[in-house]
Amino acid sequence: MSQAKGFNPFEMAQKQFDKVADLLELDTGTREILRNPMREYAFNIPVRMDDGKVKVFRGFRVQHNDARGPCKGGIRFHPQETVDTVRALAMWMTWKCSVVDIPLGGGKGGVICDPHNLSAREQEGICRGWVRQIAKVVGPLSDVPAPDVMTNAQHMLWILDEYEAIHGGHYPGLITGKPVGLGGSLGRKEATGYGLVFVLREALRELGMKPENTSASVQGFGNVAQFAIELYQRLGGRVICVSCWDQKDQTSYTFKKEPAIKLEELLGITDRFGGIDKEKAKDLGYQVLPGEAWLTQDVDILMPAAIENQLTGETAPRISRKVRVVAEGANGPTTPEADEVFRERNVFVLPDFLANAGGVTCSYFEQVQSNMNYFWEKDEVLGKLDVKMTSAFHGVSELARQKKLYMRDAAYVIAINRVAQACKDRGWV
Ligand code: NAD
Repeated sequence: MSQAKGFNPFEMAQKQFDKVADLLELDTGTREILRNPMREYAFNIPVRMDDGKVKVFRGFRVQHNDARGPCKGGIRFHPQETVDTVRALAMWMTWKCSVVDIPLGGGKGGVICDPHNLSAREQEGICRGWVRQIAKVVGPLSDVPAPDVMTNAQHMLWILDEYEAIHGGHYPGLITGKPVGLGGSLGRKEATGYGLVFVLREALRELGMKPENTSASVQGFGNVAQFAIELYQRLGGRVICVSCWDQKDQTSYTFKKEPAIKLEELLGITDRFGGIDKEKAKDLGYQVLPGEAWLTQDVDILMPAAIENQLTGETAPRISRKVRVVAEGANGPTTPEADEVFRERNVFVLPDFLANAGGVTCSYFEQVQSNMNYFWEKDEVLGKLDVKMTSAFHGVSELARQKKLYMRDAAYVIAINRVAQACKDRGWV
C-alpha cells in the first residue's frame, strides 16, 4: 500500500483497538493477544527471471488471530508493501470476519513486487515460490488466502496448483477467488455491492425511509459500485451521479443525470478499470462535473465506493444537510474528523468493515463449497448472503441503540468482543 511518510497503518489499527479495549474493559492478557498478530512469516522467494538471472523477492504472511476459525485474507503484490501494512490489514480482517459472524479469523499476505514490470511466467514463479515457503502453515483448515491488490484468479490457481503438488491431493478450500468452474463461487462478483445494499436497505427501514423515496450519490464505478447501484435501483432508489477516475486526464469526474443515471447506458461506456468515457457520457446527456461534486449533492444517501480517505475534516462539512446515511463500500473512506461531523449531524453511518463484508462472506461460502466439493446455485449464495448481512446489521444497530454508540464503535465492540470471548473460551486467557 502506498502510504504517507511517517504514517504507520499498524499503529493506527492498534490505536483503534485500544479505544474499544478500554470500552470493553478487556484484561491485559486479552489485550496483548489481540493487539499483535499471533504468527508472522517473512521469507525470500528466489525466482529465475526471463533474462536468466535469479531475483529474490520478499514475501510475508501474517496470521493475526484464529480463535474463531482459520485465518482469512488476501495476498497483495505491491512495490511499497510493508510488514506493518500487512499486519494492520490482517487485524482488520479479524474484525471484519467477526462482525459478520463467520467462523474465520484474520490474515493477510504480500510480496514486494510490481506486477507491471513482471512477465506472466515471472509472476507464476513468485506465486509458486510464495506457497513453497509457507505450504506447511496455510491450508483449508488453517489459513485461506485470496486475491487482493494486483493479484487475481490466475495467481490463486498457480498457488493452489503448487500447494496441491506439494501435498499430493486436491485442496480447493486452500484459497478463494478461484474462477467459477474451478472451485469459485457464483455470486462473488455481486457479493460486495449487493451486501452493501442489503445493509443499506435495513438501515433505511430502521430510519422509516422507503428506498423508492430516496436518492443517492456514489463515488466509484467499479465492481462494488456497479452492483450496489444495480440492486439499489431495483429497490426503487435513484442514483443521481457517480464519480470515477479518468486514466487519460489523471483526474476524477462526476457524471450526473436527473432524475437518475441509467446503469446500462453507463456500463456501455465504462472501461475495465471502472472509468467512464467523458465525451460519450456528454453525448448521452450527462453533465460532467469536477470529481468532488458527488460529495455535495442534495441526496439522502452517500455511497463512497472507490478509495480511502474521501470524507475528511475538510470535505465532510460540505456534504448536504439532506444526507441521512453514509454507506461505506470502500475501505477506510472516512477519517475520524469526518466521523465527528457525522456524529454531530446524526448521520447514520454503515461502517466499512460491516458494510463491505459481503465479499469476505461470499469467500467464506466459496471455501465451504470447495471443502464439500458441492457448489450452490447463485440464488442460494445470494440468499445466504442476505441473511448474514441483515443479521450482522441488526446486531450492530441494536447495540448502537441500546448503548447509544456511534455505529462504527458498536461494530468494533461486537467484533472485538466475539474474538476476545473465543480466546477466553479456548482457555488462552
Ligand atoms: P474497482 O477497481 O473495481 O473500482 C474502483 C473505482 O473507483 C473505479 O470506478 C475508479 O475509477 C474509482 N476511483 C479510483 N480513484 C478514484 C478517485 N480518486 N476519485 C473517484 N473515483 C475513483 O474497485 P472495487 O473492487 O470496486 O473496490 C472499491 C473499494 O471497495 C476499494 O476501497 C476496495 O478496497 C473496497 N472493497 C472491495 C471489495 C470487493 O469485493 N471488490 C470488498 C471489500 C472492499
